[in-house]
Amino acid sequence: MAIIACPECGKKISSKAVICTYCGFQTGEVTEEDLEVFRARRLRDRIYRLNMISYLVITVFVAAFGWYWWDSRGFAEAPSAGPFILMGLAALAYLVVRAFLFRNRQIQRVMRRKLKMSSDLRRNL
Ligand SMILES: [Zn+2]
Repeated sequence: MAIIACPECGKKISSKAVICTYCGFQTGEVTEEDLEVFRARRLRDRIYRLNMISYLVITVFVAAFGWYWWDSRGFAEAPSAGPFILMGLAALAYLVVRAFLFRNRQIQRVMRRKLKMSSDLRRNL
C-alpha cells in the first residue's frame, strides 16, 4: 500500500482507496457502500466541527459577560451597549449551531439505522 496525492484536492490518501476521504474524488470503482461510508465519515467530521464551534461560542458569551461585569464596575453602573451586542450575537450563534447539530445528528441516526440494516442483509444473503 502506497500513499499518493489525491488528483482532485492534493491531500495524501492510500493508493488502495477508491474514494478520497477529504473531497470525495473517486479513483476507482465505487460501490454504494463506499459512498455510504464516505458520507458517514464526512458527517461525523461535520458534527465534530460544529461541537468545537459551539464551545467557542460559549467562550465568547462568557467573555462578553466578563466584559459586561468589567464595564459596569461590578454591576454598579450602566454598561455600554458593546457587551450586550456581543452576548446577543453569541447567544444567536449558539442557537444556530445547535440547530445545525440537531439536524446533522438526525441524519446520522437515520444513516446508522440504514447501515445496520444493510449489514444484516449481507449476513442473511
Ligand atoms: Zn481529494
